[in-house]
Amino acid sequence: MKLATFTHGGATRTGVVEDQEIVDLTSVPGAPTDMVALLEGGSGGLDKLRSSLGSANRLDLSAVRLEAPVLRPRKFLGLGASYKSHLAEVAHIMQPPKHQTWFNKQVTCVNGPYDDIHMPKVSNTLDYEGELAIVIGARGRHVKGPAVRSMIAGFTVCNDVSVREWQTRAFTATLGKSFDTHGPIGPWIVTPDELPNIHKLALRTWVNGELRQDGSTSDLIYRFGEMIEELSTVFTLEPGDILATGTPAGVGGARQPPVYLQVGDVVKIEIEGIGHIENRVVAEP
Ligand code: MG
Repeated sequence: MKLATFTHGGATRTGVVEDQEIVDLTSVPGAPTDMVALLEGGSGGLDKLRSSLGSANRLDLSAVRLEAPVLRPRKFLGLGASYKSHLAEVAHIMQPPKHQTWFNKQVTCVNGPYDDIHMPKVSNTLDYEGELAIVIGARGRHVKGPAVRSMIAGFTVCNDVSVREWQTRAFTATLGKSFDTHGPIGPWIVTPDELPNIHKLALRTWVNGELRQDGSTSDLIYRFGEMIEELSTVFTLEPGDILATGTPAGVGGARQPPVYLQVGDVVKIEIEGIGHIENRVVAEP
């Protein structure tokens, strides 16, 4: 299933995307209209939902505004230096880390799949990072082995927008990763049953139509299960949490000389089997 959050007629709610239509979950008795609540129902809740879509109201997908599938996740984390190709392109400025390198993106940076991203007033070192994001679907701590699968509600596309000057000010990277609007996600959450080859998906980023990143999740150093094991060693993962899993080669900051985004640029990121997000850079209002 493709789970979405959308706005139509002034009301924002959840839906299920089927071809060029979206099933409006306000027309399904008992179905949660908030994504975190929907995910909290677990796989049982989703199975029940799947069986009750037949008689529900459908809207034309082009008539609705797609929002970030999770509008207010409780956590939004990013993994750095996780693709072999990206490590190679930044080898002149950093050593390969010995452990998974997670940082926080503040949840206030969540942005819609087709919404504008801001060029900050304080810096012009704005960069894109096309990424696959895991959406967590269950509460779990110390999750190991095959059990990690039950933690994953699905996958979505993310632009881990980065302000390089601010990213390198401190080891945490949090400030450079958390400017408002710098976390576009979407266009929907694709459940794992639709993505049998999750460790072999093409991931591409274009800027103004020029291909900048041409990677594959097969180039990741860690498997998605290992990421969940690592994080849940420390804290409880919860439904709706977003884990951006890192970016392949081709970011602007690694080019020599660096090429940063400019106002007016359009960044499109597409992942095989999921879809694409597309965001224009505007001056911070
Ligand atoms: Mg990143």
